Amino acid sequence: MVVLSKRAQNLHQGAIRAMFDKAATMDRVISMGIGEPDMATPMPICEAAAMALRNGQTHYTPNAGTLECRRAVSEWGSIKELHYDPQTEIIITPGGMGALSLLLSVIVEDGVEILIQDPQWLNYASQVQFFGGIPVSVSTCAERGFVIQAEDIEHKITEKTKALMLNSPNNPTGAVIPEEELGKIAEVAVRHDLLVISDEVYDTLYYKDKPVSISTLPGMKERTVVINSLSKAFAMTGWRIGFAAGPAEIISKMVPAQENISACANAPAQAAAVYALHHPELSETLCTIFRQRRKIITDGLNAIPGISYDEPAGAFYVFPNIQSFGMTSSEFCNRLLEEEHVVCIPGSAFGQAGEGYMRMAYTCSEDELVEGLQRIKRFCETIR
Ligand code: PLP
Repeated sequence: MVVLSKRAQNLHQGAIRAMFDKAATMDRVISMGIGEPDMATPMPICEAAAMALRNGQTHYTPNAGTLECRRAVSEWGSIKELHYDPQTEIIITPGGMGALSLLLSVIVEDGVEILIQDPQWLNYASQVQFFGGIPVSVSTCAERGFVIQAEDIEHKITEKTKALMLNSPNNPTGAVIPEEELGKIAEVAVRHDLLVISDEVYDTLYYKDKPVSISTLPGMKERTVVINSLSKAFAMTGWRIGFAAGPAEIISKMVPAQENISACANAPAQAAAVYALHHPELSETLCTIFRQRRKIITDGLNAIPGISYDEPAGAFYVFPNIQSFGMTSSEFCNRLLEEEHVVCIPGSAFGQAGEGYMRMAYTCSEDELVEGLQRIKRFCETIR
């Protein structure tokens, strides 16, 4: 009896799971592998959720999320100036992932091509495939700071291309797309009538220029869906609150899609999100912590011969080049784990263009970072 659909048969756990499983069998492990803030959610946000529970916010909310939460989103961050209508242009979802999957569920059909940067966050391609679409890679390179280039996007466009996925600040590279390049990308999107999916889940974590949302460029609001979440900005990964803001035509279909999949995002978590979105200083504090750690990790890498890297402009990742050690990124990271008990993620896990690199997340304490870097240095000296 075959009960599984073809779609289900193609589902696999992400490539980095094996590293974590292996690390779980070891002691004294330092993990620079995890893509989530290690600190607890700021206490006032937790208190807002507790208050919501005490006040009886324990029921379903509207499928699109509470109006209060949608209003708070419309007044948040760089999209504030676009005045999204909370009634028709915003949906609250279980995390940014929930927003992405709902969006893809309403725009992708068999054979549709979606352009995605390579290296990329692991889940984009699998989500596109899950809905019957074809993920098409647009390679980026270290020489251009891993910034996706408008001309490379244009070369990959066919009559089947429907949308372009952008992720700035980027996971895994930490790159931020400068406004000038975004302008060129916007021109390409308009010329080829593409939808742009702008994943901005790291937009509060930046160390140089403030990231610009492509949705704010002329003519782009009507062809962009902004995806964001509170996971990284407020150390709220477990709360599962994200959102999408975009054209009413698209959001109005994501709402019944959500009705059929999860009904709505968690009610007390939405109340907590309202509090968080009204207190941007809480996310600024997190950014300050990551800024200090970024300095520790880059200072540590500077002291290791054979490793080079581009200073990350955002998120909490650095993506150093390890090619001089003459092994694949998977061999390097597996040996690093076995010999020094440090978890870093092989660049190849993020796509072909990631081979020769590894992703280090500075989502562990300063002491662990210092110790982890010493171990990496020792490892590099042994294998040279
Ligand atoms: N987008 C990117 C680029 C991510 O790295 C992640 C999580 O790692 C997400 C989206 C999903 O975030 P959330 O926890 O809000 O679902």
